[in-house]
Amino acid sequence: MPKNESTINPFETAQKQIDIVADLIGLNGGVRQVLKHPKRELTVNFPVQMDDGSHRVFTGYRVQYNMARGPTKGGIRYHPQVTLDEVRALAAWMTWKCAVVNIPYGGAKGGVICDPKHMSKHELERMTRRYASEIGPIIGPEIDIPAPDVYTDSQTMAWIMDTYSMQKGYSVPGVVTGKPVSLGGSEGRGEATGRGCAYVVREAAKDAGIRVKGGSVAVQGFGNAGSVAAKILHDEQGAMIVAASDTKGGVYKADGFNPSALEEHKAKTGSVVGFPGAKAISNDELLELKVDVLIPAALENQITGKNADKIQAKVVAEAANGPTVPEADTILFQKKTTVLPDILANAGGVTVSYFEWAQDIQGFFWPLTEVNNRLERVMVQSYADVHKVAQQHKVHNRTGAYVLAIQRVVDAMQLRGFYP
Ligand code: NAD
Repeated sequence: MPKNESTINPFETAQKQIDIVADLIGLNGGVRQVLKHPKRELTVNFPVQMDDGSHRVFTGYRVQYNMARGPTKGGIRYHPQVTLDEVRALAAWMTWKCAVVNIPYGGAKGGVICDPKHMSKHELERMTRRYASEIGPIIGPEIDIPAPDVYTDSQTMAWIMDTYSMQKGYSVPGVVTGKPVSLGGSEGRGEATGRGCAYVVREAAKDAGIRVKGGSVAVQGFGNAGSVAAKILHDEQGAMIVAASDTKGGVYKADGFNPSALEEHKAKTGSVVGFPGAKAISNDELLELKVDVLIPAALENQITGKNADKIQAKVVAEAANGPTVPEADTILFQKKTTVLPDILANAGGVTVSYFEWAQDIQGFFWPLTEVNNRLERVMVQSYADVHKVAQQHKVHNRTGAYVLAIQRVVDAMQLRGFYP
């Protein structure tokens, strides 16, 4: 086991989740075993020339978890703590996320063990291009389509698209998503995760008996996903944003503030802290505020067995991946808190990635309003599907979302049958 493997193995967690759902819907041994194993895994060790002229060998992975529903889809992460088991788990979760929103993809994930904060742009470019060459044989618009994840961005995707295209001898924009718009990226991709989250909150509010218009919202992690969700809820749905935070701390204003003004403040000062007219609060206090909607949009493991009982929000919308631990899920369910699980609440990003790929393949690009209208339809339908399954099985929305997703994957597997 590599030294950096953490004690909680994320892949074991992912496999346990599959077992819970398999028990609930009565899946037999063979299908259950397929669901618990990645279809294809590639480990690559490759040299990169550093700026001082030396060469370093990097290790990277690409895991394609399940392709019963279509080509696989998932981000590429650059981080010193990347492990194969983490990539496997993330690839499994991408499979379920794509199935929840019913887009025709399986799930995948990639990662390179590296410390991007201590690499120059040229080093990152050389590493990205070589990694793209190494995984080149198993990616492509009809096979597996990478996207950005932690410490990778639209520039990284542009390098991968170029490297892949150079090797083919022609431009292949559909090999990755999250590209700059000028290279075949989609309008609306940048704000898709937060926008999708805001649509799901609006739909859930009806069933949770709250009103978004005039309702109070707290956002932990005022970054890409969190700030966009706050702006859409405020500007388009009339919600009152009362609190927001980042790594440096949080701010609170009982009668609400304009999230665009907070964004400007953050752009100027580097943090939400010190926003004029707002009171300072800690991240822990923010989570426990008496609000209608809480949006964890920062990190995993924020709502735990220790603080779940103190959560007063009526709706928790997980813009972040994995902010609630399983123990807390049970407590929130007993308290009748509506939790909108990550694989639903932040699936707007992968949905617009799918739109980007569809536009690239057609060579026909949509205006922003069309992207947003289509995103809204997908999120509204997905929330309704998850809610219905959760009610049917008398389980919380997270299990409902897993049941829905895994059942869709199983249906595809069974219709295709096992080759040969
Ligand atoms: P980001 O870096 O733009 O924003 C993260 C924000 O969280 C930053 O403001 C940061 O200061 C804050 N933060 C970090 N640690 C914190 C802490 N301990 N307490 C409070 N705030 C903290 O990242 P992002 O793209 O918005 O992603 C946020 C989450 O959403 C992640 O879990 C990510 O996996 C998930 N997500 C993002 C997308 C997307 O398209 N951006 C898609 C799916 C899921």
